[in-house]
Amino acid sequence: MLHHPTSNPGAGASAAPDAADTLIVSGALVPPGAQDGRWTAPGATRISGAGERVDIIVAGRRIRAIEPHRPDRPAAAGTQVLDARGTAALPGLINAHTHNGMTVMRSYADDMPLMPWLQEKIWPFEARMTPEDVYWSNRLGCIEMIRTGTTCFSDMYWHFEQTATAVRDSGMRAQLAAALADFGAADRAEEQKAVARDVVAARDRFGSRITLAFGPHANYTVSGATLAWLAETAAAADIPLHIHLSETAGEVANCARDTGLRPPAYLDSLGVLGPRTFAAHCVHLDDTEIALLAERGVHALHNPKSNLKLASGGPMRYRDMRAAGVSVLVGTDSVASNNSLDMFEELQFAALLAKHATGDPTVLPAGEALGLATSAAADALRLPIGRIAPGLLADIVLIDLTHPMMFPGHDLAADVIYSANGRAVQSTVCDGQVLMESGVVADEAEIRAEVMGRLGRLVGG
Ligand SMILES: [Zn+2]
Repeated sequence: MLHHPTSNPGAGASAAPDAADTLIVSGALVPPGAQDGRWTAPGATRISGAGERVDIIVAGRRIRAIEPHRPDRPAAAGTQVLDARGTAALPGLINAHTHNGMTVMRSYADDMPLMPWLQEKIWPFEARMTPEDVYWSNRLGCIEMIRTGTTCFSDMYWHFEQTATAVRDSGMRAQLAAALADFGAADRAEEQKAVARDVVAARDRFGSRITLAFGPHANYTVSGATLAWLAETAAAADIPLHIHLSETAGEVANCARDTGLRPPAYLDSLGVLGPRTFAAHCVHLDDTEIALLAERGVHALHNPKSNLKLASGGPMRYRDMRAAGVSVLVGTDSVASNNSLDMFEELQFAALLAKHATGDPTVLPAGEALGLATSAAADALRLPIGRIAPGLLADIVLIDLTHPMMFPGHDLAADVIYSANGRAVQSTVCDGQVLMESGVVADEAEIRAEVMGRLGRLVGG
């Protein structure tokens, strides 16, 4: 389906360029699913010949029109033309669960049990990180996401102001949850409430690409009273909540021992579960808990690689959750436990794990997987992205169809999910700005050098 500008329905070869156009993505193939978000509809993932090439015309931050490709399309002075011939355009991928500030910890500690890994390696490293380190770690993670076709992510980490500044400077879009944990201490609880009030006060400070959220780390790191206060404050201010939920069997057992309730019921009793709640992992859920998440409209964030690598004790029950009507999104978790931010790989793991866990190869087909990281995630985040259509924000990635991973190209979604990885991304556009063109991100070398200069102090000699 092609969308034409309603303001100029008879536009022909002689039409003058619109002075408002700032970018023309010229000559891309756009599968129907990318345009309407209905990735499981018949034919949604197919692209055929060069005759279906289009020009995506962007005015400012938004897509203005999608028109048949014209190599000789006139462009107003100052309009940027991004050569997209030989590519397929997809909506920018959305990573639903990250801790981008941890990107400097990639391969610092691996192949360890969870608690020694945290206590001996990750927490001491974090204790040495300054707010400025968090800024540069975020810049580094953003480079990787831009290079692998992610334009938006949902994050939880400390130092939300440095995180938001880094993401703003990178050109990416994000929902950034300030990590909050009081460990049951009254003085820490007051500090965390002050941070939450700062989040509310700063929500419009970082521009239109940044949404701020509360990130109570988990039911075992935040006291019940603080969780209830955060839930009430978030609801009053319409602030999203991002939390870890039922990642390991141990935390479920501890919660039941300490509160008499398993984590979903406990959080529900505190008012934490609702349609603005993003719950990471959701590995250890019974049928009643799955029904509860569906009823409350909670978004479950599936992190298959992290769950496998940390041996979190079984796959998230994807088929059962979808059957119950739970909103499921996919995220990488941090590179300390993944170790990549490449959403192509994450979606592949999600699809393979869902099939393996059920013994049913029809579970989580490729088109559906693409939808989880595009239209479904956009709807969950309440952002006008996740589809390539007029009026929506211009978050677009171009996939190189000449790459051997994408050839001969019988089905775009199957190639993207089962064959390709982020190296198939040729160019990345976010909010109408070209962040990567033909594999080049402008400030990558400078960011790498800045991070290298900080590593000696961070690893603690
Ligand atoms: Zn996490």
